[in-house]
Amino acid sequence: VEKRYNTWKGSRENQSLYLPQLAFEAEVCQYVKFMAREVRPPAKSGVTSVPLHPDIPLLGPRFLPPSFLHVLRRNAAPEITPNPAYLKPLNVIHPMYYPELLERCPNCRTLGAKPDLAYNGWNPTGHREVHGVMQEETAIGIQLRCNSCEARKETRSHCFVTTNPIFWENVQHWEVPGKWLYHCRCSPVLTSAGLTAGMPHFLKRSATTSDLYDLIVELRPSMTAAGLAENIRR
Ligand SMILES: [Zn+2]
Ligand SMILES: [Zn+2]
Repeated sequence: VEKRYNTWKGSRENQSLYLPQLAFEAEVCQYVKFMAREVRPPAKSGVTSVPLHPDIPLLGPRFLPPSFLHVLRRNAAPEITPNPAYLKPLNVIHPMYYPELLERCPNCRTLGAKPDLAYNGWNPTGHREVHGVMQEETAIGIQLRCNSCEARKETRSHCFVTTNPIFWENVQHWEVPGKWLYHCRCSPVLTSAGLTAGMPHFLKRSATTSDLYDLIVELRPSMTAAGLAENIRR
């Protein structure tokens, strides 16, 4: 966790460098990585995934910063820094949550070829900012490498990050998952946890939350960009 945090810290010259945010994100990434390892099938087993153990809580893909209650109950001597109010929610763009959507290569898709993907860990430069309706959020992606494309000389790239607009270039906006019901069969308590947010949209100039994107789509026909900006600020 510490190593990841330090790598991000060192590679974010022109981006936000709010250290408690990076620390929170490093912890979340560690959890997702652990969970992804838990469901990974043994080599040559022929199955696509192993069920997650009932004792492991299935959280995400949108992680809220720890609340005051967490800080109070998880620490022996709670220090009230950092102020959780300044931390932004983190959206994790990992195949653990979106298996079909992320297990593809943009080039191969255009060519109609079968991708040969390898995952290369979290984005080394850390999170991306995501604009939201009520508050700003962040998103962290992982690196994909397509071995089929690496072998092809004519393709412009074979490495992608799942929060980069290049990865999403040919994906229609309705393919990006919206809100879905969080349902967990192994825990009756979690079954009623309700809706989670949809996946952010990664556009060329900025990224937006699912909610903001829906709002823009809804307002677009009747409104200018200035009018929309005015609306969002309200
Ligand atoms: Zn490819
Ligand atoms: Zn469960």
